[in-house]
Amino acid sequence: MEKGIATVVKHTGSHYLLSVLPEWNPFPAVIRGKLRLSGTKTTNPVAVGDRVEFEGEAITKILPRKNYIIRRSTNLSRESHIIAANLDRVFLLVTIILPETKLAFVDRFLVTCEAYGVPVNIVVNKRDIDDEYSLALLKVFKEIYADQAGYNVLEVSAITGENIDTVREACKGRINMFSGVSGVGKSSLIKAIDPKLEGIRVGEISLAHLQGKHTTTFYEMHPISTGGFIIDTPGIRSFGLIDFKKEELSTYFPEMLAVMDNCRFMPCTHTHEPGCAVKAAVEAGDIAPERYNSYLGMLEDQTKYR
Ligand code: GDP
Ligand code: ZN
Repeated sequence: MEKGIATVVKHTGSHYLLSVLPEWNPFPAVIRGKLRLSGTKTTNPVAVGDRVEFEGEAITKILPRKNYIIRRSTNLSRESHIIAANLDRVFLLVTIILPETKLAFVDRFLVTCEAYGVPVNIVVNKRDIDDEYSLALLKVFKEIYADQAGYNVLEVSAITGENIDTVREACKGRINMFSGVSGVGKSSLIKAIDPKLEGIRVGEISLAHLQGKHTTTFYEMHPISTGGFIIDTPGIRSFGLIDFKKEELSTYFPEMLAVMDNCRFMPCTHTHEPGCAVKAAVEAGDIAPERYNSYLGMLEDQTKYR
């Protein structure tokens, strides 16, 4: 009987497809008996991206995850659903205008990725729209997210093809996820990366719901012709805020994390405390007021929902 380690590339009910990545050779497998994961109480023990040990057609063991993203179930059972595991990268697709991406949304998304331990790159699409107004906004966007927060910000155009080769290259050898709100050009970008991927579902995100709808959604991994993989993310309504402790939140803002050791009080919420290095950095213009406001907003929401 064939034994080995493979990655879950598709999940439909109780059936799975595994592949020994980076080879693409999907074969069916099922879970035999009880497979228990310590810790989180989830509705699905195995998710797309999980690395598992198999024997013939049986999944015998789930290997430790380096990260995973979850969706909380609607009921109050505190159950959650694992959307994907072992993501190498999330691409957050945004646009400066048409549609204008709200920075508060970007910040919440980035914080979620930081909290999950998932590396995130920002891709600004529709770079071909280059009127003066858009370019001025783009400049501010890059100052905040690239220069100050330190994120990788790539400008692309799915229409002209500008920098698409860079995204394609970045996907190689990795398991990737693409996310963004409706209209930013996710479908266009995916198609530009690999025409064969036309029609796969990519994530539209709403942070309005912190809790997911109780629907059965199945996720799937697809190979990119030029190398690497992409996980589809149909309607993730609640790739939303994770539970976090008040003192933890600022550690998910890289530019705050960089200075918070200098706060007089430990822990510091960077709100009312005297001698706060984060507030000083905001006043000095080293941390964008927009980012600090997002931080305060999230802090407030968290207090409300607790
Ligand atoms: P999705 O909802 O994120 O999947 O977005 P779509 O790929 O459906 O694109 C939404 C709209 O934006 C469509 O009208 C696309 O033609 C347009 N679009 C996508 N990429 C670009 C781009 O790079 N430049 C411009 N000008 N329009 C784009
Ligand atoms: Zn502080």
